[in-house]
Amino acid sequence: MNQDVDVAVVGAGFSGLYLLHRLRQAGLSAIGLETGDDVGGTWYWNRYPGARCDVPTTDYTFSFDPALEDAWTWSEKYATQPEILAYLRFVADRYDLRRSIRFATTVTTATWDDTAQRWQLGTSNGAPVSCRFYVMASGCLSAPKPPEIEGARDFAGPTYLTSRWPHEGVDFTGKRVAVIGTGSSGIQAIPLIAQQASHLTVFQRTPNFSIPALNGPAPAAAVATLERDRAGYRERARWSPVGMPRQRPAEYSWQLSEAERRERFERGWMSGELGGLSTAWADAVSDVDGNALLSEMIRGKIRDTVTDPATAEALCPQDHPFGSKRPCLDTGYYDTYNRPNVKLVDLRREPIATITRSGIRTAKADYDVDAIVFATGFDAMTGAMLAVHPMTGRGGIKLDDAWADGPKTYLGLTVAGFPNLFLVTGPGSPSVLANMAVAIEQHVDWIVDRITGMREAGQTTIEATETAQAGWSRHVADCTGLTLHRLANTWYTGANMRGKARGVMPYTGGLGAYRGICDEVVSRDMLGFRLG
Ligand code: FAD
Repeated sequence: MNQDVDVAVVGAGFSGLYLLHRLRQAGLSAIGLETGDDVGGTWYWNRYPGARCDVPTTDYTFSFDPALEDAWTWSEKYATQPEILAYLRFVADRYDLRRSIRFATTVTTATWDDTAQRWQLGTSNGAPVSCRFYVMASGCLSAPKPPEIEGARDFAGPTYLTSRWPHEGVDFTGKRVAVIGTGSSGIQAIPLIAQQASHLTVFQRTPNFSIPALNGPAPAAAVATLERDRAGYRERARWSPVGMPRQRPAEYSWQLSEAERRERFERGWMSGELGGLSTAWADAVSDVDGNALLSEMIRGKIRDTVTDPATAEALCPQDHPFGSKRPCLDTGYYDTYNRPNVKLVDLRREPIATITRSGIRTAKADYDVDAIVFATGFDAMTGAMLAVHPMTGRGGIKLDDAWADGPKTYLGLTVAGFPNLFLVTGPGSPSVLANMAVAIEQHVDWIVDRITGMREAGQTTIEATETAQAGWSRHVADCTGLTLHRLANTWYTGANMRGKARGVMPYTGGLGAYRGICDEVVSRDMLGFRLG
């Protein structure tokens, strides 16, 4: 027996929760299907030591209901994973959302039935679901990248994936620990693991730029701005390039003296926000030359902090401009390499040959350890969507075939050949390049407004045309061509996954501009969509 609903929502993180709330408000029947056994998504799974947001929580928060904002106060500028999870649980309880969610349930297959004009979803638990609309709120950083290292299964001790961390926590006291990976998760976890472990060996393939978070209570200025005019601030955030209203500098690097650049850099470095450096001067993250000045100043900070010159040099990113790969925020990351119990292994000089029973063997040495932490990241943006396999659209077309040369979408929200399928923060939308709380609210509002609009118009299907999708893909690529993202091999481009098609996946044109385009599509009678 099927469970019949108007809308099926895959995932119960920020996106799934807000979707269920809005769908219910609109009088539609909806079910949430979630692999985890509770709400939270990212913040349910990523429980590694040091896990926090890197967008200030005064911004990384729902804004759809002022009463919700009144009811919750964040305790820190960058909240911890437990606090963000508590917030999402609070949201689920406040709007009574759990009763609409089937937990411990993975959507395994999805098939469009052109006769019934409905999706049929196979699930790992309970009845299959039949729905008119199928929304993938499955997360763009939710499918862990498996450690692709020979011998990973041979290791005799425990191994941990940062994105699947044990709920009861891990005690590394007295243990020799290896951390593989120095992306955002590794950089957050390494200082805390180093404090506990008897010895920590960090295996680094690509160094990342990281700046000090300078965490603490929510900054008084941010709180005062919100208290003065919260609605106005939230509206400015919605139309800003990255989902946070920030002052953009008028002066280009070449219009400033060296002393002025230094002064702005130091201010940005001490701002405790990623945006502090990217707005140091107008061409800081948009032009190679303006960026080179900034990147070199950050490398100077690394060299000033890390006492061993060889380690400092290995930690200095040289292969990508600052901002072209997601920069990190840290608490004591570079200082950690001055501890006597911490060693950095530069995998560009000595690649891992294999994992053995007792540890990690590189081209140069054997490193015996008691535990291995894989901070190896995600199959970003497409991983969770393609894990529903097969996902079959009109005429038997499969999503993995449609995306064989890289993901193609219209507005990052829909896929030609897949009627009534919506993606939240999908490839071709700003998603990970913006404050995702704001990006998610925009997507959810747009999707639910389309579904309710169709109901009022007596329409049952919506599908992007191939022409619109091709045009959007070209626009996404054109925007990328104007940014420095094209110069880096990153998870934005699929370069972290063996065999994944390459191309910058998020839309780099900015969230505010994107919102305007989505609104314009609607005002021009759903330009690029076929409605039936
Ligand atoms: P998720 O939170 O990823 O939730 C998706 C859910 O879908 C998951 O629970 C998953 O189990 C479920 N799911 C997937 N596939 C299936 C399936 N087939 N069947 C059933 N369930 C399925 N963003 C920011 O803007 N600012 C930050 O500071 C920030 N910090 C981050 C820190 C970390 C460590 C990580 C990993 C991400 C961070 N992000 C940040 C991005 C973050 O993912 C988003 O902000 C946001 O939480 C995404 O919410 P979501 O609901 O779209 O997806």
